[in-house]
Amino acid sequence: MNINKLSRQNIQALTPYQSARRLGGKGDIWLNANEYPTSPNFDLTDRTFNRYPDPQPQAVVEGYATYAGVLPDNVLVSRGGDESIELIIRAFCEADNQVLYCPPTYGMYAVSAETCGIACKTVPLTADFQLNLAEIERQLDNVKVVFVCSPNNPTGNLLNRSDLLTLLQMTAGRAIVVVDEAYIDFCPEATMVTELANYPHLAIIRTLSKAFALAGLRCGFTLANAELIQILQKVIAPYPLPVPVSDIAAQALQPQGLRQMQNQVTETLKNRTELQKNLEDLAIVDQVYPSEANYLLVKFKDGQKVFQSLWEQGIILRDQHKALNLQNCIRITVGTEEENERVIEAISALSGKK
Ligand SMILES: *Cc1c(COP(=O)(O)O)cnc(C)c1O
Repeated sequence: MNINKLSRQNIQALTPYQSARRLGGKGDIWLNANEYPTSPNFDLTDRTFNRYPDPQPQAVVEGYATYAGVLPDNVLVSRGGDESIELIIRAFCEADNQVLYCPPTYGMYAVSAETCGIACKTVPLTADFQLNLAEIERQLDNVKVVFVCSPNNPTGNLLNRSDLLTLLQMTAGRAIVVVDEAYIDFCPEATMVTELANYPHLAIIRTLSKAFALAGLRCGFTLANAELIQILQKVIAPYPLPVPVSDIAAQALQPQGLRQMQNQVTETLKNRTELQKNLEDLAIVDQVYPSEANYLLVKFKDGQKVFQSLWEQGIILRDQHKALNLQNCIRITVGTEEENERVIEAISALSGKK
């Protein structure tokens, strides 16, 4: 008996998300998942492990609301930002609706939609990695959720604010616009949070996995108007956050935790500037795209060779060769100063200076 045949047809056809961890690799330098390179230190303070947790732990919701500049009823906390993607699809898409996203971008929009049996429409980003608004408008029929990512993963750029506003206007009353701000802590002035008051169909995804250096915690947020948050409350699991997770998240959102996060951002931006400059000096590098996040998208003469060679040396980067319009590109997470130097040495050995 073939158990696979018993599973839903869309699951039979599904390629699971190619997460950095799933792709494997043996190394001592991990720059493929946009993690912060070192771990913060927290102790557990809440030991009521016998009790079910608060479904929406107050200290976490209030802490994040204060940090983001919204009210607690504009916040939903979930198992990573990834859970937010799926909740929005499940809450808003009927079986014959579609989601729309703009590649090259984050892979989870497609995986979550396919898991739910919802079809995807894609409208590629323009050559400068911006939204193709005219084409999005043409494709909106039957679309219930539009996912955009700013700063965009893997390209690193911000989407033009005026384009996001136009997108919000053209979708009003028709579809939810999700702005994925997983990397916004590296450029907080670019947030769309200030537009929540104007757009009831705007949802913003946030996470503690990147600038907060807490990817292992699995804690993320949706920011939206109270009405939209209440809809998501209907579909989220009853107890999404384990007690140890909310305990540590609450500490990370205290003033001392926020200061630590801001130091991590400062350190990352300094190291990104240095890494970018050193990459641009290498003959094998075609282009380093400008980035507002904690990673750089780099186009090489022969990206496959660079990726493979560093992989074999235990330096694990993220190959983007197969992503739309990103032939020979590699995404490199900004690591520690030492890690970045090792990356430059390894690429120099294949290259030489310009
Ligand atoms: C990392 C990331 C997320 C969310 O990650 P979680 O660890 O699930 O919080 C969401 N969107 C993008 C673009 C990301 O890179």
